[in-house]
Amino acid sequence: MSAIIIDGKAFATRLREQVARDVSDLKSKGVTPGLAVVLVGEDAASQVYVRNKGEQTEAAGMTSVTHRLPAETTQGELLALVAKLNADPEIHGILVQFPVPAHMDQASIVAAISPDKDVDGLNVINAGRLASGLPALTPCTPLGCMMLLHDMLGDLAGKRAVVVGRSNLMGKPMAQLLLAADCTVIIAHSKSRDLPAICREADIVVAAAGRAEMVRGDWIKPGAAVIDVGINRVPSRDPEKAAFGGTRLVGDVAFDEAVQVAGWITPVPGGVGPMTIACLLANTLTAAKRISGIA
Ligand code: NDP
Repeated sequence: MSAIIIDGKAFATRLREQVARDVSDLKSKGVTPGLAVVLVGEDAASQVYVRNKGEQTEAAGMTSVTHRLPAETTQGELLALVAKLNADPEIHGILVQFPVPAHMDQASIVAAISPDKDVDGLNVINAGRLASGLPALTPCTPLGCMMLLHDMLGDLAGKRAVVVGRSNLMGKPMAQLLLAADCTVIIAHSKSRDLPAICREADIVVAAAGRAEMVRGDWIKPGAAVIDVGINRVPSRDPEKAAFGGTRLVGDVAFDEAVQVAGWITPVPGGVGPMTIACLLANTLTAAKRISGIA
């Protein structure tokens, strides 16, 4: 048996097109969704993410504003900018790109963002709303995983789901979303005993541990849906390239093994990854609709 390989790139393209259509509709009612992204410092990977976010936001017809601040910006200066963006009626989503420089406190920055504009869904108000079953802005990657799962499996009610990882960004909101979809959910983490046996029980495995190819093929129940969130850089398979520092991306799942057993599986790259920015756009649209009172 060989699993259906989920094309996250194609799904994300369709989602961005749907968001663009909805943005156009909202604009005809007088509201242009606006996303502000704040980048502090010169982190090379963050620069790429921020540029991609800006381009995709504009391509969806939204207003994109990027604030690039020097690494020596104080916490007070950053919080003052966040307060200004909170009060700006043209801005419906605020995202501070993490990591921020070491002298800043990530938790207070997240707490300073208005929950209504918290399109990363990391503010404790949104986490609480999600856990309470109230309308919330949900972290983008788990939201993307849920969209893929619904697309694969339709109704998820009654399915046994295992989420490997319990971060605030990924594992916990993922588990809440699965619970809200009436799954029976287990959250596994680094202290869980006999992780292979836990995973073997699952109809849905979401791997978000940040451990290269940790989830093996014989951990997967035949026919299960496997969502691989991990992004890990490992040495290239080609020894010559590896000798010169060549690398490749792998997920948290040993894809070549799991694809033989699973019913559905997301590859890395090209699975969950492309969904994240598409869901950021979807969240910005949701925030703009809620703030402007247009359903
Ligand atoms: P964190 O490091 O914040 O959390 C990792 C979690 O995995 C922790 O809860 C940890 O447990 C658990 N864990 C670590 N090792 C093991 C183990 N051996 N067995 C079981 N559980 C383990 O990572 P994130 O949640 O931020 O990200 C997880 C992965 O997803 C990373 O590879 C990251 O790059 C990727 N990612 C991808 C995104 C995308 O767009 N595709 C977006 C966000 C993340 P404990 O709590 O006990 O330490």
